[in-house]
Amino acid sequence: MMITADDNNNDLQEYPRRSGAMNSSTKECTSCEQNNVDNITEGIDNVVLDNTSTCANCGKEGNSDNMNTCNKCKMVKYCNAACKKKHRKKHKKACERRVAELFDEQLFKDVEPDECPICLIPMPHDADQISVESCCGKRICSGCMYAMKLSEGKDLCAFCRTPTAATDEEEIKRVKNLMDKGVGGAFFLLAGYYALGDLGLTQDRTKCNELLLRGGQLGYSEAYYNLGNSYEVGRGVEVDKKKSQHYFELAAMGGHVSARYNLGLLEYRAGNQHRAFKHFIMAARAGHETSLEVVKAGFRDGLVTKDEYANTLRAHHESQKEMKSDERDKASKIKEEMRRSGFRA
Ligand SMILES: [Zn+2]
Ligand SMILES: [Zn+2]
Ligand SMILES: [Zn+2]
Ligand SMILES: [Zn+2]
Repeated sequence: MMITADDNNNDLQEYPRRSGAMNSSTKECTSCEQNNVDNITEGIDNVVLDNTSTCANCGKEGNSDNMNTCNKCKMVKYCNAACKKKHRKKHKKACERRVAELFDEQLFKDVEPDECPICLIPMPHDADQISVESCCGKRICSGCMYAMKLSEGKDLCAFCRTPTAATDEEEIKRVKNLMDKGVGGAFFLLAGYYALGDLGLTQDRTKCNELLLRGGQLGYSEAYYNLGNSYEVGRGVEVDKKKSQHYFELAAMGGHVSARYNLGLLEYRAGNQHRAFKHFIMAARAGHETSLEVVKAGFRDGLVTKDEYANTLRAHHESQKEMKSDERDKASKIKEEMRRSGFRA
């Protein structure tokens, strides 16, 4: 089966072949200071009756609240740090297994798609069809931008009706104002300006990646996706396949379908077909075209069952239908026409 990289967002180049199973995903991220384990195990506590627990090392009973918990899996308790240390070697395997399980639960959890705040239709997957407004920080779909332009004949924010910034300085000022308020999309916007050297800024890939990281941490999955691409192709950073996978995972957990497709690709190339198709099926169900093609091919090759394929196909069409609107179709058509006539939209 031939599977190619998703170039939907024009960044991801063909991956070189990878080897080795995927087991890096459970480690702490070394660059974003985000402790996956803590995020994943949040809210999960060991089941304790009457608040008494047994030390996993020496067997002594104690009050759970005063005991020392394994801070990775949160599954076992110890009377003190010494017991914890003594037990470390014995516990390591079970701990890693549990952490991996918890991680996978998060990684393969369905995420509700984002909606456009105006038309309330699920957002398109293509980043080209979404705009982050520097006035109010809202993400608006191309259909709503098109409708606004049509009704007003000028560029107003479709959400708050603020006119587009008149100067580069004004635009940067707006974006920085949103950044102060912790709007993830604003970090993504500024990252984009630095990536291109736009708005009179000097092109700076390092700065761009720093901003992408911050945007991702603030919940903007498109930023994590782009950061994954930076590590994949070595843009402003050294190529680092583990980190690119890590950021694709964080993006996919935030509902980014192209990131999920890329994860499928990475798993497929690492020989982990089962995990790969779990990703492809999820992305296809969410309406991702290329993933559906892969699932179809997988069905032909006997890697996907008939039922799985039929269900995926149904969900795919459903998602596609939900994302469609007349305005979005018209906006796409205009963009396509402009592209054909040599304009860069
Ligand atoms: Zn003990
Ligand atoms: Zn543990
Ligand atoms: Zn909309
Ligand atoms: Zn606005």
